Amino acid sequence: MSNIVIQKFGGTSLADTKRFKAVAKIIKETSETGKKVVAVVSAMAGETQRLIDLAKGVQEIPDPREYDALISSGEQVSVALLAMSLRSENLKSKSYTAFQLDLRTDDYHGKARISSIDTKNLLMDISSNITPVITGFQGINEEGDVTTLGRGGSDTSAVALAVALNAEECQIYTDVNGVYTTDPNVYENAKKIDKLTFEEMLELSSLGAKVLQIRSVEFASKYNMPIRVKSSFTNEEGTLINGDENMEDALISGVAHTNDEAKLTIRKVPDIPGIAAKIIEPISAQGIEVDIIIQNVSEDKTTDFTFTVKREKAFEAKKILTDLSEEFGGGEIELNEDISKVSLVGVGMKSHAGVAATMFKTLAENKINIEMISTSEIKISVIVKEDSAHKAVKSLHDAFNLEK
Ligand code: ADP
Ligand code: ASP
Ligand code: MG
Repeated sequence: MSNIVIQKFGGTSLADTKRFKAVAKIIKETSETGKKVVAVVSAMAGETQRLIDLAKGVQEIPDPREYDALISSGEQVSVALLAMSLRSENLKSKSYTAFQLDLRTDDYHGKARISSIDTKNLLMDISSNITPVITGFQGINEEGDVTTLGRGGSDTSAVALAVALNAEECQIYTDVNGVYTTDPNVYENAKKIDKLTFEEMLELSSLGAKVLQIRSVEFASKYNMPIRVKSSFTNEEGTLINGDENMEDALISGVAHTNDEAKLTIRKVPDIPGIAAKIIEPISAQGIEVDIIIQNVSEDKTTDFTFTVKREKAFEAKKILTDLSEEFGGGEIELNEDISKVSLVGVGMKSHAGVAATMFKTLAENKINIEMISTSEIKISVIVKEDSAHKAVKSLHDAFNLEK
């Protein structure tokens, strides 16, 4: 192991030039302890969304290559601004884009996976006391075209760099003090968790705790790279996520929710073998991930088939279903975008019956209707109306005493 640490700063930590200066101070202080810092940054707060909205303004389903060229540009602004801020703190620094570093990914625009990183320049900088500042979120494919890693992807860039540089740990600086039992911006009773296993964090991230992108946790788990989530606004301990077993698995580690999903229903499809595959195959072939699926009982030899996808893909998925339905004489396509997925996560759930019962009873008592359910060994998710999601999160947090 080296004395290298990765420090990643999200958009929330880089809202304006004052914040760049504050971030430069954090890096300087760490450097003064003898650690070698490699910084990774996201676009300034709100910038990536602004770029996405611009794209939508000119093309309904944006061209993937140009879309990535556009939405990756926010990070390029951030690296230069941070390198300058570091220089005004008298630290030598150099900014890098993915192209300059030859940070390679596969060809999946908008959702690319990192395949290799050339660390030669970075190691040279480190040995000359130069602090490298690297664009998160972006990579390049075989052709040298810019790719992006999906929303929140800078976390994954940071962990991948930590692994490539054999860093001590990967520090993710954000606007909250660590990982909480639920989103602290949704429920003020949320409690900070000091330590989490990769397994628990994987579930929390995959179910909507956007404080870490799921792929960053997958990567960290695969290479056993510890992640520390900290606030760039205060100087507190934060949350450590690593491969150590927790002495006692919490029954419930947290409540997560998403509101970036949509529900599609195709009505009156013939209830015959193979129909599920017929519907799902063309959706998957377009690279659209399907999450929860329900096929209802058939009445008149036809059935309704419902599933959820990411909201940004809903329009595309609806188009595919409309064509399909015409093909086999099915009914209308219904699209609901006002849904939310609320999930309970806990490794301890494995050995406790009754978690689901308490969850459903709590939601019922709060008059929250459950539209779909999905379970695994260590989580239970329900789809509810978006406007009742916060109420669901709070009531479940209370029902399982997570503030304690
Ligand atoms: P950054 O810009 O630093 O990448 P993000 O907005 O991506 O920040 O992630 C931080 C946000 O994650 C927090 O402001 C918080 O609202 C949200 N969040 C959701 N669930 C959790 C959780 N369980 N613990 C901490 N933060 C959470
Ligand atoms: N700027 C990108 C986004 O907003 C990447 C990131 O923040 O991690 O999704
Ligand atoms: Mg983020």
